Amino acid sequence: MPTDSLFIDGKWRSSQGTDVISVISPSTGLEIGVAADATADDVAAAVAAARNAFDHGSWRHLEMSERVAVVTRAADTLTQRIDEISALVTSEMGVPITLSTAIQTRTVDSMHFLCELAFRTKLQDVRSDGGSTAVVREPVGVVASIAPWNGPFAMAVNKIVTPILAGCAVVFKPAPETPFDVAPLVDALQAAGLPDGVLNVVTGGAATGQALVDSPEIDKVSFTGSTAAGRAIASVCGQNLKGVQLELGGKSAAIVLEDADINTFRAGISKGCFMNSGQVCVALSRVLAPRSRYDEVVQALVAAAGDWKTGDPFDSATTLGPLVTERQRDRVESYVALGIKEGARLVTGGRRPADLDTGWFVEPTVFADVDNSMRIAREEIFGPVVVVIPYDTEADAIAMANDSDYGLHGAVFTEDLDRAAKVAASIRTGTFSINNYVYNNRAPFGGVKASGIGRDSGQEGFESFFELKTINLAPGMEGLYQDSSERSKTHASQTI
Ligand code: NAD
Repeated sequence: MPTDSLFIDGKWRSSQGTDVISVISPSTGLEIGVAADATADDVAAAVAAARNAFDHGSWRHLEMSERVAVVTRAADTLTQRIDEISALVTSEMGVPITLSTAIQTRTVDSMHFLCELAFRTKLQDVRSDGGSTAVVREPVGVVASIAPWNGPFAMAVNKIVTPILAGCAVVFKPAPETPFDVAPLVDALQAAGLPDGVLNVVTGGAATGQALVDSPEIDKVSFTGSTAAGRAIASVCGQNLKGVQLELGGKSAAIVLEDADINTFRAGISKGCFMNSGQVCVALSRVLAPRSRYDEVVQALVAAAGDWKTGDPFDSATTLGPLVTERQRDRVESYVALGIKEGARLVTGGRRPADLDTGWFVEPTVFADVDNSMRIAREEIFGPVVVVIPYDTEADAIAMANDSDYGLHGAVFTEDLDRAAKVAASIRTGTFSINNYVYNNRAPFGGVKASGIGRDSGQEGFESFFELKTINLAPGMEGLYQDSSERSKTHASQTI
């Protein structure tokens, strides 16, 4: 991998400084490459290029159909590169190759859905109240998009393609663990005709991200990552009064009601706790079980833990990869030790798999007899660790589910769908699942409380990259501001 991992004003470049990030394979512990650790000067150059492209370039003035045509061509190119991108992501962060291929395939496909959203968005309409007023959606400006490592290519697509379709210019910063997989997306967009400066990439760690957020030339920050970093970013954005969207951590509860079907629960929770080695923000990492079925629920979780096969992530039979870094494994192991110290019962897992000599693996882990006040029940572990907490009444379960700093996701397992709807209405989270664990990118996604501010994805996520402008019209101007979404669609069928 070359160190010219910065993409600024249409060119791949190396840093003006000399620092690099060493990217280590989590399954072998060997270096897979080095990326530039961008300096404040690199960040300033990237922001200046984005600012220039937004303020003086053509991109934001194009018809929506023309922007859609660029993204569609890029998606078509990326479809040919899925295997390469999947392998890159597996090398960087250890997700098993079979899962990686499924995720990257769906991600490239999601670019077409983002184009549909773009067409559906009403960019202007006229409202009359005596006189006429046009309400116009204009792109928000220069967006700083900052991503974590746990689903890096999907994150890059969402955080780049959504704002550029809206007409924004973007400076994207991937996580230092996963700096490489954005390159095919950049190349595909450039080859498809994205003008120079509309998309820029700076690789680096927290300091690079901070320099980006601090820049007065940024209009909006779109951040996905930890709650601690989100708080720091929000305070800078608050000081500078710039827009901010935060998708942060979670400690989501799955409530098992007394009538739950145990096989449905097991199927949902297995993915909910352990997929991607539990490195998922919406992981259902707290299970609330009725005392009457407590042992059965714990046994279902033990069985679910046994469903997963750890091993070389490039082996197609492997379903559970390593944790992303040695530091992340140390963190997960320290929570396992903490759980034992707090008096929870370690039912299964908690160790490194005996048959694997290399890689930062931790077995799927189940803690029973957990109290909701324990730190292992309150803090996000971000590893394959689930805690089971007993409850007496449904009201107790709802109170415990809500007794969390976080509010990202939650679930209920029950055969009584009316009851399920009532529980869904009682839980303060941005997303909720009934008898399943799925992610639907057609719907808005995000959290409340310490899980974030604002919504990504779906129509609502797309619309968050616009500002609304109200224009009070002179008589006779209404025709200039008719709803343009249909007009764009007609134009699209001619240009694509
Ligand atoms: P992190 O907050 O350490 O880093 C995320 C990104 O922010 C990285 O690119 C990092 O370099 C950058 N960064 C860190 N500090 C910064 C600062 N002060 N200013 C600007 N940029 C900064 O998180 P992580 O360890 O990479 O990812 C794991 C976390 O992300 C977990 O808490 C997880 O729940 C969360 N996450 C949330 C979602 C969601 O949609 N809600 C999705 C995935 C991950």
